[in-house]
Amino acid sequence: MPETTPRYARQIRCAPIGEAGQARIRAATVLQVGCGALGTVQAELLVRAGVGRLIIIDRDVVELSNLQRQICFDEEDARLRRPKAEAAAARLRRVNAEVEIEAHVTHLTPENIRSCVRRADLVMDATDNFETRFLINDACVEAGIPWIYGGVLGMEGTVMPVRPGVGPCLRCLLPTRPEASALPTIADVGVLSTTVTITASTQVTLALWALTDPGGVDCAVRALDVWTGALRRIPLKRNLACPCCARREFPSLEAAGPPPDHTVMWARNAVMFPPPADPALLAARAAALLAAGGVHPNDDVWELAVTDDAGAPHTLTLFADGRALVSDTRDPALALALWRAAMNSPDC
Ligand SMILES: [Zn+2]
Repeated sequence: MPETTPRYARQIRCAPIGEAGQARIRAATVLQVGCGALGTVQAELLVRAGVGRLIIIDRDVVELSNLQRQICFDEEDARLRRPKAEAAAARLRRVNAEVEIEAHVTHLTPENIRSCVRRADLVMDATDNFETRFLINDACVEAGIPWIYGGVLGMEGTVMPVRPGVGPCLRCLLPTRPEASALPTIADVGVLSTTVTITASTQVTLALWALTDPGGVDCAVRALDVWTGALRRIPLKRNLACPCCARREFPSLEAAGPPPDHTVMWARNAVMFPPPADPALLAARAAALLAAGGVHPNDDVWELAVTDDAGAPHTLTLFADGRALVSDTRDPALALALWRAAMNSPDC
């Protein structure tokens, strides 16, 4: 008997897992993109289930409004503005020291996604936007790695396992990416914590299935309503003319022109600016935020609270990787004006 058997005994007793399945789970590397609502539940369950290595990528810090549903975090994490990936990793290492946990505080881009995906046996979607999901889809289909879509809104959750070359991929259903501005977000209509946990649980169930019996996974979409208890299984077919999984076109991976000068984070209600071309500017920007009355609550973050001309509050956040984030607006012009006002220096 393996030394770790008592820890996983109840899981191993489930017929589809068994000792052989547990060994496959133990040997697996899972990449989890995002560590917010869905991500904290996924990570907790995957680590307790005994995956070998969990790689967590998240670009944000913990806020008080996260605690209602993001189960790895506490008030101290929010007060210290800990990066979500690192706060989750610290907790998860206490949950299961057998699991190797990597935390990356960064933004997934066409430039870095291939190297991340190719290290994984499976990718978990814990994002809140289609831009990143299309990146995941294209990178996973290109590399032939399964991934598990998850989305939540209000009382409703949707889950879809993607098995490249076997079942439909995201572009089979949506050949082009929907405009973020046309979609409702949880910042607008809210979400219940129970919607999050049942949706993430469904994703992790499919992850365990994919790791233990890759050829058997049912590719149907699961649509659930936590309020009414309705659960629908929707079988879908591949689009044999799909630009991605049939014609092998991966538009999300092709960076068209220079990187965007900003990203509107619709579900987060924030605007993000990429790192400066000159890395030396990071220190100048950090100093400018502190000079304006900002705080440096941990090694990864500088923050400054400001108000706009209408008196509305915003938070300016500078990350150690050089990204800048302006919260409580989706207006890039306002975000840039607030940022420049805080910098108070032509060099920033
Ligand atoms: Zn497809």
